[in-house]
Amino acid sequence: MDKIKEISQEALDFWGYELQSNMLIEEMAELIKALCKYKRFNYEQADPAIKANVLEEIADVHNMIEQIEMYFGEKEIASIRLEKLIRTKKRIEKLKGDK
Ligand SMILES: [Mg+2]
Repeated sequence: MDKIKEISQEALDFWGYELQSNMLIEEMAELIKALCKYKRFNYEQADPAIKANVLEEIADVHNMIEQIEMYFGEKEIASIRLEKLIRTKKRIEKLKGDK
């Protein structure tokens, strides 16, 4: 188990699903806010601190998603993700063919 998974499992075991799912919701809201601000300040023209905040909030969401995936079952979610990505790839290929 890598370090990220090891610590994520420890956090999930310690705080439990209820608290960690609330944290995920909070972190997603923070990421939404950071992305809106990045857009409002015209992306790469924004103050570097605004972009740094986006990266921090992405990391926070990843860390909480990791724990919630562990709760619901990482393998099943990985399989659903792959199915969806394959569907996306087919959609892209179809759209490219339509051009
Ligand atoms: Mg955060």
